Amino acid sequence: MTLTTSIQEFQPADRLDGIELSEIVRISEQAARLRAQGVDVIALSTGEPDFPTPSHVVEAAHRAAIDGQTRYPATAGTPTLRSAIATEAGARPENVVVSTGAKQVLSCAMMATLNPGDEVIMAAPFWTSYADMVSLAGGVPVVVSCPATQKFKLTPDQLEAAITPRTRWLLLNSPSNPTGAVYSKAELQALGAVLQNYPQVWVISDEIYQHLSFVPFTPFVQAVPELAERTLIVNGVSKAYSMTGWRIGWGIGPAELIKAMVAVQGQITSGACSIAQAAALEAITAPQGLLAERRQAMRARRDLVVEGLNAAGLECAVPDGAFYVFPKTHAKMATDHEFCRFLLDEAGVALVPGRAFGMPGHLRLSFAYATESLQEGMRRIADATAKL
Ligand code: PMP
Repeated sequence: MTLTTSIQEFQPADRLDGIELSEIVRISEQAARLRAQGVDVIALSTGEPDFPTPSHVVEAAHRAAIDGQTRYPATAGTPTLRSAIATEAGARPENVVVSTGAKQVLSCAMMATLNPGDEVIMAAPFWTSYADMVSLAGGVPVVVSCPATQKFKLTPDQLEAAITPRTRWLLLNSPSNPTGAVYSKAELQALGAVLQNYPQVWVISDEIYQHLSFVPFTPFVQAVPELAERTLIVNGVSKAYSMTGWRIGWGIGPAELIKAMVAVQGQITSGACSIAQAAALEAITAPQGLLAERRQAMRARRDLVVEGLNAAGLECAVPDGAFYVFPKTHAKMATDHEFCRFLLDEAGVALVPGRAFGMPGHLRLSFAYATESLQEGMRRIADATAKL
């Protein structure tokens, strides 16, 4: 018997139109491919601290596994972790959802709140995933360009001009990926003052780099407590505790919003990994001395790359937080992606073009790498640009 089937061409869903593999992932894969061919590549392209996860955190995970914390966890997060997060934030457990990374918190928030055509305002440069997450959930990203001349920050006038009756969220990220910009208390208050007049607009404050601020950090709800009942705070252990692979992040917000996000999560993952949640609990409840130590180390690295890039002719401002710099491309090179290609081919250094973050003409360099790699990277970039 012969089986005849007509094989149809695979057609992804319409919601994937325009959504591609993240440029950061693409570049990291390119770098890995070159390395596999024996090319000595320094990849300064990923947003991931090089420090190991602290050993007491790993041990807590081991204990949790041995103790049998291996069954489906409660969908919204384990009661102990939810309580610990709530206590620290001065909130209640029903205000907290724990998800598979801050990324999933953001995705669940979009899916739980956006109807087709609803708008989400974001300041460019923005973290690459924001716009695609909004689109996947049926919303419309409203991108407001915030160039270096305004320190990559959204101004109250720009916010006011971007709001329409369809605006559902303002998405803020401080300290910022990819620019390291940190909003001061006064700047947050000025944005908050605009939002007082638009009760339909809610705020997502992505504070995942909170512990990596080199200037005093003000949480959004501390600056604008009047907006707490329409604010979702996003945070997690990935960046501060070098726990990117454990995939634990959380959202803190009004109980009704959290309930809707938990309903989405329940149909997608059934909740985050129980063992990773035990590890996250240890990370945030143990003595926190390591945060200051790592911040200091990052600050020294920041100074090294800012100096190195400026010396190589790439105009680079000093970021106030996170572990990224966002210099301009070299004046003699036409576009950001061509310059990235040039640096990869000529210098064996992988950076990410600014267009991936909604701002062409710049590059993002992550300095979450060992000092020796950064020094070598700077030397190579200087040598390559000297040939231009
Ligand atoms: N927000 C921002 C601004 C980020 O840079 C990242 C990670 N690159 C995330 C959220 C997601 O973090 P997580 O690893 O917790 O999913």
